[in-house]
Amino acid sequence: MAVRADIVIDNATIIDGTGSPGVPGGIAVAGDRISVVGDVSGVEARHRIDAGGHVVAPGFIDCHTHDDRMLLDEPGMTCKVTQGVTTVVAGNCGVSLAPFLPSDDWDMPVPMALLGEKKQYKFPSFRDYAKAFERAPAAINAAMLCGHNTLRAEAMQGDVKRPATEIEIARMQQKVRETMEAGAIGISSGLMYPAGFDAPTSEVAALAEAAGKYGGLYATHLRDEAEKLVQSIEEAAEIGRAGQVAVVLSHHKITGRNNWGGTKLSLERIEQLAEGQTIHFDVYPYVASATALMVERISVAEKVLIVASDKHPRTAGWYLHDIAEEWGMTQAEAAEELIPAQAIYFAMHEDDVRRVLAHPRAMVGSDGIPGTDAPHPRLWGTFPRVLGYYSRQEKLFPLETAVHKMTGHTASVFGFRDRGVLRPGAVADITVFDPETVLDRATFEKPTTPSDGIDHVIVGGEVVFEDGKQTAARPGRLVRRDAA
Ligand SMILES: [Zn+2]
Repeated sequence: MAVRADIVIDNATIIDGTGSPGVPGGIAVAGDRISVVGDVSGVEARHRIDAGGHVVAPGFIDCHTHDDRMLLDEPGMTCKVTQGVTTVVAGNCGVSLAPFLPSDDWDMPVPMALLGEKKQYKFPSFRDYAKAFERAPAAINAAMLCGHNTLRAEAMQGDVKRPATEIEIARMQQKVRETMEAGAIGISSGLMYPAGFDAPTSEVAALAEAAGKYGGLYATHLRDEAEKLVQSIEEAAEIGRAGQVAVVLSHHKITGRNNWGGTKLSLERIEQLAEGQTIHFDVYPYVASATALMVERISVAEKVLIVASDKHPRTAGWYLHDIAEEWGMTQAEAAEELIPAQAIYFAMHEDDVRRVLAHPRAMVGSDGIPGTDAPHPRLWGTFPRVLGYYSRQEKLFPLETAVHKMTGHTASVFGFRDRGVLRPGAVADITVFDPETVLDRATFEKPTTPSDGIDHVIVGGEVVFEDGKQTAARPGRLVRRDAA
C-alpha cells in the first residue's frame, strides 16, 4: 500500500543537520512534520519536488537577529527567506521591542532606536507582542529574548547612567518572569551600549537568575570586544553561573588593529569555561560590524560607513572620512553632527573571523539590522556566504559542518527540540539549495541583493519560497525553548 504525504522532495542529497556526511535520498512531509527521511520512491504526494541532486537540509536558524519589529511590519521576511532561514532568534544585544512603552518625558537610550522609533515600541508586555505575532504571523518562525537594556530603560525611566536600585531590579525581574511565562526563551544584554554600560555584573545576574528559574538562557553582547575581551567573557560566564543559565556570547569577535589575533586567547578561555558550564557563541561571516554610530567607537575602526542618519539622510552609504572632509571637520565632529545614526565599522581581521567561524562551538547568526536602505550586507547574505564562500570556495570546513553550524548545533544550544535536524517527527522546516551555486550577492555597495542558489524553503510544512519566488504563505510560529 502506498504511503501518502503532502510534500515529497526526491532526488536530493540529504544533509541532516547533525554534521553527518550527506547521503542520496529524499524526504516526505505530512502536515507540519517530516514523515520519511531516505527512500521516498514509494511515497505519494500532491506536491513533488525533484531536487535535481541538490541538497535538502533543515531550515537555517538565524540565532542572532534584531528582527523584532520587522517580523510584524514586513512579515514576508524576504531578506531571511531568500537565504533559506526558517527561524530567527530576536531580541538580541539587550534590545527587545517588548516589554516596553516609551514616555514623552525621556528619550530612549542608545541603542534602542535600532529597532524603531518611539511610536513603534507599543507592547507593554511580551504577551501583547506574542498575540500580535500569532494574529498575523510572519513567513518564518521566531524565538524571542527579553532585552536588559529595554527593561532598564523603562524601570529607570531613561535615567540609565547608573546602577539600578533594588526596587528597579525587582521590577525588571518581575518583567523577566512575565516574559518567560509568555514564551520568551531567555534574556539578552548589551553591556557595551550606553543603555547597559553602567549596570554592574550583579544587576544582570539578578535577571539571569529570574530567567533561569524558567529554563531560559543568557545571550550577551559583551561589555568590551577589544582590549578587555577576555575579561568580558569572564563576566558573562559569572552571570551564567550565578543564574544557572546557559550562556551565548553574541557575535564573537575582536576589534581594533592592536587586538587582532586575540581570538586565539578568547577561544581558549571559552573552552576552559565550557568544562564547568554551558557556553557557546554566534558569529557572522564579515570583517565589519554594524550598530549605532557612537563617537567613542570610531577610533577602533579602520573606516566607518554611514548606514543612516535622521538629520542627514543623504549621507547614507558614505564613508565618515569623506563626510568629515567635505564638512571640514574631524571624524568625531562629523559623527556628532550625524547622530542619531547607524554605521558600519571595519574593525576586524579576517583571520579572527575564520578562527571563530571554524570553531566547533560557533553558530551562525547574522546580527542583521533591518529597517534602513543601506544595511550591512549580513542582513541578506550571511547564510549563503558561509555555505558558498567559506565552505565551498575557501574550504574552511565541509558543507555538512557549515549546515550543522546553522541548524542542528543551533537547535541543540537553544533547546529547539524538534527543529534543526531532518528526522521523522521533526518539524518540517526545510531548505533545498544548490551546493554548486549557493552564494551571497549582497555587498557593502549593493546590500539588499538576494543570494544565489536557494531553491525551496518550507516552514512548518508550508512552502514559503519556490523557484526563486516567495509564496503568500505565512506559517511562522513562536518557538519556545524545550530543553531546559
Ligand atoms: Zn550586539
